[in-house]
Parts: sequence; structure tokens; C-alpha cells
Amino acid sequence: MFDTKKKIALLGATGSIGVNALKCVDNAADEFDVVALTTHSHVELLLQQTARYHPGIVAITGRDISDAARLEFENLGARVMLGGHALSDLAAQADYDMLVNALVGAAGFLPTLAALDRSADIALANKETLVIGGSIVMQRVRETGVALLPIDSEHSAIFQSLMGENYDDIEEILLTASGGPFRNLPKEDFENITVEQALNHPNWNMGKKITIDSATMMNKGLEVIEAFWLFGVGIDKIRVVIHPQSIIHSMVAFHDGAIKAQLGAPDMRVPIQLAMTYPRRAASNFPRLDWGHLKQLTFETPDVSKFRCLALAFEALRAGGTAPAVMNAANEIAVAKFLDRRIRFVQIAEIIEKTLEAHNPASTPDVETLLEADHWARRFAEEAE
Ligand code: NDP
Ligand code: MG
Repeated sequence: MFDTKKKIALLGATGSIGVNALKCVDNAADEFDVVALTTHSHVELLLQQTARYHPGIVAITGRDISDAARLEFENLGARVMLGGHALSDLAAQADYDMLVNALVGAAGFLPTLAALDRSADIALANKETLVIGGSIVMQRVRETGVALLPIDSEHSAIFQSLMGENYDDIEEILLTASGGPFRNLPKEDFENITVEQALNHPNWNMGKKITIDSATMMNKGLEVIEAFWLFGVGIDKIRVVIHPQSIIHSMVAFHDGAIKAQLGAPDMRVPIQLAMTYPRRAASNFPRLDWGHLKQLTFETPDVSKFRCLALAFEALRAGGTAPAVMNAANEIAVAKFLDRRIRFVQIAEIIEKTLEAHNPASTPDVETLLEADHWARRFAEEAE
């Protein structure tokens, strides 16, 4: 049906977003040609994906592989790239039309820049990219004229609510949040939160890091920063609204009093597919909203005394410069320590706060300064308690 298929390079193919992105490829198979796939450590799954989608290049960043395993990829027609630089090299060298960045954490930053350098469109799930270097990324987006399409469901909702609108007419962005598993837990019980409880998200099935971020509400903090850069509105125009049902994916209020929202069943394939097919919408049989069983849509104000990470993200965004990158790095380390059971849940926010306090932010950092700040924060947060 399509004369030329869109060539997709998918970074983080073995993760939650990556696997769902491949389901979107299945759903609109005549639109896409998968030319590159990557994993950090799930080599067996990457091999299965290679057998099914036949990319010309695969990258494995987190471990070495045997000669026999390499041969298996090569027999399927895929050249294998290994090691830390593989993602930026792949983003710089592979022949693709769109980079789908489904990596988790700071690892997503440099490959995004490499895709921008060659003016490829980007479907971005990796919110950490914009948290670390939003200023630089958005400047390059403007210079190159590429499409930077949000995959995050809230930002997709805002993007959809803004279709046909003038950004100068925005009064407020209403970023919805489920509130995570501890929305109703009294503050005194936060001391005893276990890893298992924190990994049990009520509405979404996601990778471990973002699931913990959702439990601390740092995820919403990262998303505030992501929205700040994507939509170019002032910090004071971004409001977080708790909406436990996750049916309204976010809203935009305009200065005439009108509010537009995007709704749907909570299924990441919808925003992933829109980012991949934009400006078209491809038909799907993804689950529909069940109006017969939908009883109520409710809203609350977040309690930042319980969810300190949300307040820290606003503070880091106001501080600007390297502060958001430092916050992001400290969060990655603190979350990993919590998952390793080396610290308690409440120490995640404490470590981030201590790291931010010890940091003297540089105001208009270049890429190198951002990476240095990221590395410094990782070392500091590793030692902090
Ligand atoms: P996952 O942990 O499920 O997957 C991450 C992917 O990146 C995997 O392929 C993983 O490989 C790879 N990876 C992990 N660490 C590294 C590294 N250091 N270097 C290179 N590759 C690495 O994460 P999610 O899919 O949940 O999230 C991806 C991004 O999307 C995050 O930024 C998240 O905030 C965002 N997001 C996710 C949503 C979701 O529903 N999951 C919703 C909205 C946004 P391996 O499989 O070997 O670990
Ligand atoms: Mg989100």
C-alpha cells in the first residue's frame, strides 16, 4: 500500500516501550521497515526480534557475546555492534528515517543528539534526554527542522490537544498523574515501603526504573521538565493534576477558558503508534475505552510533602543549567540503590536533595559540561545516604 516504507531504528527494543513499538510495527506492517534494533542485555529476545523483523544492524551495549551468538545474528543478515558507543555510532551511521528512542535513563541523550546531527525525525520515549539537555536538544530541533514526536502518553495528549492551536493561546498545561501506588498511603507509612510494593503500579505495566519513578512521583517531575522543553511554556504554566483512573492523558487550558483533553484506555501503543505514523493515524484494534464500566473521573492536588521528588523537579527546573541533569543522575543512582535494597524508599528523595544541594549549577552548559555534571552526580549519589 505504501510505496516507500518508513525506515525505523529502534533503540531499546527489548524494553517495555520497545516491545510495544514492535507491536505497532505489526499493526501497520506495510508502513514500516525495521532497520536497526538494540538491547542492553536481553540478547536472546533481540535474536528473536532479529529473526522476525530482519534489521540490517543490531547493537548490544551491556555485555559481550560469543562468536557463535554473533554468527547467529549475521546469519539473519544483521551486523552486530557492541559496547557503550554503539548507540551513538548506530544513530550516526545507520540508514533510517526515524529514530525511536525507547532507552531508559541518561543512555538516551547522546544517541538523540546523533540523530539530530543527521536531521532524522525522532519518536522520543526517553524523557531523560530532555531533562538532561532540553535546551540543546530543542535548539537543534529548531535548527534542523526535524519532527520530535513525544511518546510519553501525557505529552502525546498535550501534543494532540495542541493540534491546530496557537501555542501563544495556552493558559496552562494540565499534566495528569495517576498518583502511583502510594497516593492514599499516610506519610508515616512511607518509611516501610518495600521494593515489591513500589513495583506494583495500579494502571501501567512498565520498566522497573519508571515504575519506581511513578511511585516517588519523580516520573511526573521528569515529565514537567519534558513538557517545559517540548511545548515552550513557562514553569508556572505547568500544573500537575492527580487523576487516578489514567483515562484523561493530559489537558491544555487556553486563554479563552476552553480546555482540550485527550482520553483513551491506558495503552502505550496508542501514543507510540501516533508518534511513528504522524501526521497520519493508523487504524488499530488496541483496546477501546469501556464507557459502560467507566464510573467516574476524579481529580486531586498532589501532596508534595509526601512526594518530595515532585517538588525537587520543579526546583531543579527553576535552578536551570546543569541542575536537572544532576537531579536525573542522582535519581537514577538512588532508584538503583533502592531496587538493590541498599536504601529505603524515602532515601531516594533525600539523596537527590543532598546531591542538588552540593551542586553548583553551570548556567548555559554545553554537552561536555552536562556529561561532567551527570558523572559527578552519580559519584556523589553513590556515596550519599
Ligand atoms: P525498560 O527498562 O523496559 O527498557 C529500556 C530499554 O533500554 C531496554 O531495551 C534495555 O535493555 C535498554 N537499556 C537499559 N539500560 C541501558 C543502557 N545503559 N544503555 C543502553 N540501553 C539500555 O524501560 P521502559 O521501556 O519502561 O522505558 C523506556 C523509556 O520510556 C524511559 O525513559 C521511560 O521513562 C519512558 N516511558 C516509558 C513508559 C512505559 O510505559 N514503559 C511510558 C512513558 C515513558 P535490556 O532489555 O537489556 O534491559
Ligand atoms: Mg508518562
